Amino acid sequence: MARKRILITGAAGFLGSHLCDRFIKEDFHVIAMDNLITGDLRNIEHLFPLENFEFQHHDVSKFVHVAGQLDYILHFASPASPIDYLKIPIQTLKVGSLGIHNLLGLAKDKKARILIASTSEVYGDPNVNPQPEEYWGNVNPVGPRGVYDEAKRFQEAITMAYHTFHGVETRIVRIFNTYGPRMRLNDGRVLPAFIGQAIRGEDLTVFGDGSQTRAFCYVDDLIEGIYRLLFSDYAYPVNIGNPDEITIREFGEEIIKLTGTSQKLITKPLPTDDPKQRRPDITKAKELLGWEPKVSRSEGLKITYEYFKSLPPDLLEKVEHKDFSTYNK
Ligand code: UDP
Repeated sequence: MARKRILITGAAGFLGSHLCDRFIKEDFHVIAMDNLITGDLRNIEHLFPLENFEFQHHDVSKFVHVAGQLDYILHFASPASPIDYLKIPIQTLKVGSLGIHNLLGLAKDKKARILIASTSEVYGDPNVNPQPEEYWGNVNPVGPRGVYDEAKRFQEAITMAYHTFHGVETRIVRIFNTYGPRMRLNDGRVLPAFIGQAIRGEDLTVFGDGSQTRAFCYVDDLIEGIYRLLFSDYAYPVNIGNPDEITIREFGEEIIKLTGTSQKLITKPLPTDDPKQRRPDITKAKELLGWEPKVSRSEGLKITYEYFKSLPPDLLEKVEHKDFSTYNK
């Protein structure tokens, strides 16, 4: 039987590259697409020799053409860390609006099923904890995170419209904080920031008083959840994340213990609109997909630390944190 063909956008990124691996393992023909603004070909170079893998260097905000049959599309192209979307706000808005419009058009034309990567950022700085899918969120459209949050919210809206109006088969995953190998060490996110600082022998920078919470999911668990959602028959958004919530200060202490660094936690200003709490309600994923995370934070962090330690020195460089508090001033 001919292989099923899947287009993965953002394929050279952290999550996109793990999805490429998974679908290659499941014997799909993978068409990987990326404009390489934040992605890195090193994440997928091991797949280039395979006959069922092809790469297209393309920006999905421009018309997307794929020759021949297409069965599935996974839309994972987007800058995804606060530092990135401050640096490239317009591209962030374009990929979540023009990009998804192109891909939904492609899905309709090819009669392909499309799954889009949404985010816990659609909940903004949430007033309810944990966040169920029914919560509509608390988002500041004109703050530093607005370009990402509103693009992702628009992306969900246009995806549902293509589903109800054009009958396109759509799936929406709301991804909570995820970590693991191939995360960019300089993307400014808390986990690579802390591990990078520990490796370089610098103090760990906690923003604000560190009482804000997050819940971190190991990448293999996330990929399994996405895989199950794609093959489910549920078109509404589903949260995928690990509900094991922790304060950022406690998280910093865990990284100090894990890395054995003699450095300490120091405080920096809290970025504008930084969510105070975040934790997924995963009741839906459990009931609909029979999914829940399996990898504990201590196991996942060990694997991730080993990965970061093995990187070449040019990837371990320090990144200056942009001061979000001066945004719009
Ligand atoms: N954070 C921190 N120190 C850093 C980077 C981030 O204390 O060097 C905090 C940040 O303010 C936020 C949390 O860690 O409260 C998670 O930040 P991240 O950028 O990883 O993602 P977010 O969940 O905010 O999108």
